[in-house]
Amino acid sequence: MKKEVVVLNCGSSSVKFAIIDANTGEAGLSGLVESLGNLDASITYKLNGNKTSFSLSANAGHTEALNAISTIIEDTGVKPVAVGHRVVHGGEKFKQAALVNDEVLAAVKDYASMAPLHNLANAKGVVTAQKAYPHLPHVCVFDTSFFQTMPQKAFIYALPMDLYRDHGIRRYGFHGTSHKFILDSTASLLNKPVEETSVISAHLGNGCSVAAIEKGQAVDTSMGFIPLEGLVMGTRCGDLDPSLPGTLQKKLGKTADEISDLLNKESGLLGISELSNDCRTLEEEAEKGHEGAKLAIEIFCYRLAKYIAGYLIAVPSLDAIVFTGGIGENSSLIRETTMGYFAHMGVTIDQQKNLDARFGKGGEITAPSSQKTVFVVPTNEEWVIAAEAATFA
Ligand code: ADP
Repeated sequence: MKKEVVVLNCGSSSVKFAIIDANTGEAGLSGLVESLGNLDASITYKLNGNKTSFSLSANAGHTEALNAISTIIEDTGVKPVAVGHRVVHGGEKFKQAALVNDEVLAAVKDYASMAPLHNLANAKGVVTAQKAYPHLPHVCVFDTSFFQTMPQKAFIYALPMDLYRDHGIRRYGFHGTSHKFILDSTASLLNKPVEETSVISAHLGNGCSVAAIEKGQAVDTSMGFIPLEGLVMGTRCGDLDPSLPGTLQKKLGKTADEISDLLNKESGLLGISELSNDCRTLEEEAEKGHEGAKLAIEIFCYRLAKYIAGYLIAVPSLDAIVFTGGIGENSSLIRETTMGYFAHMGVTIDQQKNLDARFGKGGEITAPSSQKTVFVVPTNEEWVIAAEAATFA
């Protein structure tokens, strides 16, 4: 029997929504509400392959968005069994998905101190969706839960310990639903039990992170207290000398919030290339000789390769290195350049397989002689959220 779940990802001005069959991961419906709170608020969705768009009223908020979404869902005739909410920060409290109640909602709001942009919008989404679907179980699925198995040596910063004890300052890790999906898929591909599968998983989208997974358990990851540490991302800087935010604040006469914006929204591929945060554009322009685009791609791949190399010691039983996310799934150039750093370790990418794996196809991209196996696996975070939510239905 089909178990269809409404999956919601509420941002401050957007709502991503889908109906996912929890058994197969298939999306009957998927869509996006954009520009909430603005004059041009609109909704776009795909139903059985057909795309539809319409405007919402000017300055429409989350309530109007959820009303529009529930009307679209009602029109499909689907009877969802649960609502799964993507929540970015679950702190140390949520080691797995949680059925929403007052305590859970209060904790989600509480963790907004660590992820202000995300958690408050996520909580608003939960409250609004509860009104639209009062009789269904609502389940929060956290980006951080998958990483709660990390050992202290991976998650404690070398700062005074009272900052961890009193303020929860530690590394949490994000993109957990995607890395979990990659782990499960790799186990299936290799025909191994999940708890015996070991993976270095590179999720490369607008946000980027690498996860080290040893025998089914996350042991390290590149994102830290918030999704800013680690790799070069579309507009986020990743690793930085910790003195820089303070120095920049003084040098540029900016506030802490302005520096935070600079590191989150003006840096990464965009900052280096002075052109775009979009990997496709950068590849096209690099091909034509744009120096900034070439440098951005070079730094992106070098930083990524350094992280993967570091995780070879965290994952002694490695079965496969896996690329996923918009860049990881589609950019043969990024994969080839990154894995090129491992040539002296006997890793060989098969160029044809690397090209063939693009655009949702996936598969192994290494030559039979390669000392390590590299896969491309298209991620499906919504399926993980739907499957977790369906366990409460
Ligand atoms: P998000 O993290 O917002 O979910 P995605 O996972 O969709 O983002 O990834 C977006 C990134 O994927 C963008 O940088 C985009 O340029 C890149 N991308 C998508 N298709 C391609 C492609 N064919 N070649 C290179 N990069 C691509």
